[in-house]
Amino acid sequence: APDEAKEKVDGSFEVDLPGAEMGKVCTRFPPEPSGYLHIGHAKAALLNQFFAQKYKGRLIIRFDDTNPAKEKDEFVESILHDLETLGVKGDVITYTSDYFPQLMEMCEKLIKEGKAYVDDTEREQMQTERKAMIESKCRNQSVEENLILWKEMIAGSPRGVQCCVRAKMDMSNPNASLRDPVYYRCNPAPHLRVGSKYKVYPTYDFACPYVDSIEGVTHALRSSEYHDRNDQYYRVLEDMQLRKVHVWDFSRLNFVYTLLSKRKLQWFVDNGRVEGWNDPRFPTVQGIIRRGLTIEALKQFILSQGASKNLNLMEWDKLWTINKKIIDPICPRHTAVLSEGKVLLDLSNGPETPFTRVILRHKKYEPAGKKASVFTKRIWLDHADATAVSEGEEVTLMDWGNCFIRKVERDQYGLVTRLQGELHVEGSVKTTKLKLTWLPEFSELVPVTLVDLDHLIVKKKLEENDDFVSVLNPVTRIETSALGDSNMRNLQRGEIIQLERKGYYICDVPFLRSSKPIVLISIPDGRQQKP
Ligand code: ATP
Ligand code: MG
Ligand code: MG
Repeated sequence: APDEAKEKVDGSFEVDLPGAEMGKVCTRFPPEPSGYLHIGHAKAALLNQFFAQKYKGRLIIRFDDTNPAKEKDEFVESILHDLETLGVKGDVITYTSDYFPQLMEMCEKLIKEGKAYVDDTEREQMQTERKAMIESKCRNQSVEENLILWKEMIAGSPRGVQCCVRAKMDMSNPNASLRDPVYYRCNPAPHLRVGSKYKVYPTYDFACPYVDSIEGVTHALRSSEYHDRNDQYYRVLEDMQLRKVHVWDFSRLNFVYTLLSKRKLQWFVDNGRVEGWNDPRFPTVQGIIRRGLTIEALKQFILSQGASKNLNLMEWDKLWTINKKIIDPICPRHTAVLSEGKVLLDLSNGPETPFTRVILRHKKYEPAGKKASVFTKRIWLDHADATAVSEGEEVTLMDWGNCFIRKVERDQYGLVTRLQGELHVEGSVKTTKLKLTWLPEFSELVPVTLVDLDHLIVKKKLEENDDFVSVLNPVTRIETSALGDSNMRNLQRGEIIQLERKGYYICDVPFLRSSKPIVLISIPDGRQQKP
């Protein structure tokens, strides 16, 4: 296809929108305020902005608020917040509800022109008839009858609420989306912006092409699951006699072991399976940032996938690998020792009084700042390290020097309980196999909770008819107690660090002058493959 993406070497993509003219392009991102933005929405928002900028055109942020039952102010606020986080800035912010009066007029006009009719067929039967290409019994009602019923709908009367407005298109079209789609429905729920003024609301199929055309959108980008509805979109505009808009598909973003549907995510929130919409296990923009993903990585990832139309299932590892390349060169280094089974190493010739040295938090990146390293005669080692050394072996104590292990003491079960050693700081690091992280015994170590998170579901790819509740992962959060170097007292919420030899972490709960542990969430680095 001519508009297929051609990936460039730098990872970004180059593709032309059909009929796009410099300075005249207008795109739009139309979220429904029925949940927080997730990574799929981020893709849509970033792509729309990308094309608006590429053609020096305009970007509209439009809240598609046509379903009062699902929409909330909280979601409008969070979407605005998340767009700012993503660096997506629209030239204007609009609401589909701004056009409710005009949309109703348009609906009435189409009824008068015989291009729409009022139907009281029940929902299920309507679906069956649509599949079977059977025309509704109401299809040939007179305009007068339709107008009377339309007024009943507007009034929300008992008769009106049984009805909906449908386009009169083509019941025998092979494309089911052209078989008289619904334009208007009754809904008694109050609307977040216009309250109880209306009892009828337009459907997406009706409102979207109208507002796109009226607002001057030249290119309506939609994820590819709407592809079959493109002909319907064009037909709606034709029937309305409005300016044509190019519809342009991009691939819907999906991830393994991940739900990207606001309705399903809402279920996790409502059932207390997550802390909220910003839970670090969630694929929401707020969730993945809280998990330690940088905006830069997110943008690189999305723009590198580009505008390909393949429906593909992405691996999280790909995204986390990009992220690691961004955080590794700059994030500060700290040290932690796991509490369980930690072992003291006595250094026979260690310092009788502790001393402190100020060192860089990142050896190759000065802006990461400095930290104080405390040296004591007895030091803590991770149990696994204490178990790995053998008597007589020379090891390296990181940021200190070499040390001979003189004695390994074990309990009756053979577990290492204590080590005796002798510093050999003039020894060369090149001669040792083990480079160990350690913490001083005496300084004020910080209690730390290390958090490992897992996917919320155990099925890699959820099919259309799968019940997600039957594939929930029973354990998605594992906590491990540790001690951290005293500098970790100063970590800020959201700060990303590397714990030497353990991995990358983001500070979720900082030190709060209490004895409560600080909370560090493990950031995947793209190598932690799911078994
Ligand atoms: P959900 O299924 O999560 O409720 P939605 O498609 O109903 O999502 P909208 O708020 O209507 O959510 O979507 C706003 C825009 O984001 C639309 O243009 C839609 O195509 C796009 N979008 C939604 N999900 C994805 C996704 N997974 N990948 C790419 N774009 C998406
Ligand atoms: Mg939608
Ligand atoms: Mg959807």
